[in-house]
Amino acid sequence: MIIVRFAGKFHPFLVYYKYMPTIVHKYGGTSVGTPEKIKNVAAKVKAVRDKGNNVVVIVSAMGHTTDELIDLMHKITTDPDPREYDMLVSTGEQVSAALLAMALQSINCPAVSLTGGQAGVETEDIYRKARIKNIKLDRVKKELKAGKVVVITGFQGIDSKGDIITIGRGGSDTSAVAIAAALKADVCDIYTDVDGVYTTDPRIVPEAKKIKSISYEEMLELASLGAQVLHPRSVECAMVYGIKIHLRSSTKDIEGTYIEEGKKMELKKAVRGVALDLEVAKVGILQVPDHPGTAAKLFKALADAKINVDMIIQSVHSVSAAADMAFTVNKTDAKKALEITQEIAKELKAEGAVSDTNVAKISIVGTGMISQPGVAARMFSSLSAAGINIEMISTSEIKISCVVKAAEGKKAVAVLHKEFELDK
Ligand code: ADP
Ligand code: ASP
Ligand code: MG
Repeated sequence: MIIVRFAGKFHPFLVYYKYMPTIVHKYGGTSVGTPEKIKNVAAKVKAVRDKGNNVVVIVSAMGHTTDELIDLMHKITTDPDPREYDMLVSTGEQVSAALLAMALQSINCPAVSLTGGQAGVETEDIYRKARIKNIKLDRVKKELKAGKVVVITGFQGIDSKGDIITIGRGGSDTSAVAIAAALKADVCDIYTDVDGVYTTDPRIVPEAKKIKSISYEEMLELASLGAQVLHPRSVECAMVYGIKIHLRSSTKDIEGTYIEEGKKMELKKAVRGVALDLEVAKVGILQVPDHPGTAAKLFKALADAKINVDMIIQSVHSVSAAADMAFTVNKTDAKKALEITQEIAKELKAEGAVSDTNVAKISIVGTGMISQPGVAARMFSSLSAAGINIEMISTSEIKISCVVKAAEGKKAVAVLHKEFELDK
């Protein structure tokens, strides 16, 4: 109620304010893969808007468009200028966003498509894998106020120079969660071609079970360790801003998986999921003279080249007082990492450097590991019983990862899924 003074008297007024919830939807490549599918998405989005919601939709490129653009690029060059790479691969999302806006308009639903830059998504000045720094929502809010559904291209933003920047493959999930966080959205639904997060990739293990609810920590590990179903940074962003993600099917109208604050009950299960990462490579430096500063020199050079190093092992030869060191990097960085390691090997008078791209990383993840001893032993014994050789190991409080031969990756996932009874 507000009280207004009018003609010298006070009058009470009851003011009704209708709250309009803000709903963010994200549709992945398969979900907008054909004109028919785009029309289906439009119908779904319109139904949500007609219920009195503000709706913002983030889209990926149609089907395998991004891969096709990269194949096309490889017909011109294998070593593209990073700025032009971003100019090229960001176009896929523009096609699907414009088509979805048109599909909405054609069913009498006012809509507008915006590029990342137009939607105010500001990123770091790093081509190909920038992080989102800030989102200026003025334009988006203006369009919502005008009653339009706002369709935004995922996977891209704009840097301080005004250049189009992409945020890493699979990054549309992160665009969606970041936009949901900036808008303080009431709902963040990520629609995809599976109906939830499973105990492992159901394409590898058909017995995999759908998980109803998973903590941010566990999902972040699974996603970072290769479960492609969500971009790891989207989970990080959701965790920081307390956004509850509902990952669900774009074709079946059923509940999917909630990615949210962990519940105590989950701690009972030692392992919640198994992930496979085939995008890894192993690089080794052989017989490095064993004195202080060698590791620092190598890893600083790799960091300067913006190469992320994951697992590291060092084995010392007591006789020669020299050490072998091996580490893993993303496959796309393998060539560069080997060149840098070869250079450093020369400087350090080591025997040489080698790399192997024929490897895979398998990981088990679960917060319950903290309280249950023997999980690592079970992992190693079951792999060895299946005749799978472990080349590297790394652990944290809630995950254990092993590097194995690439050809044995899928078998290893199935073995571990069974060993930890995730099919039950
Ligand atoms: P989108 O194009 O919608 O972003 P993605 O292809 O990136 O979809 O991710 C969905 C795919 O992730 C699924 O088809 C599935 O094969 C794969 N995937 C990997 N690990 C899992 C998992 N643990 N649970 C569900 N899907 C998984
Ligand atoms: N289209 C981009 C890719 O294929 C981004 C995404 O789909 O999330 O990587
Ligand atoms: Mg994806």
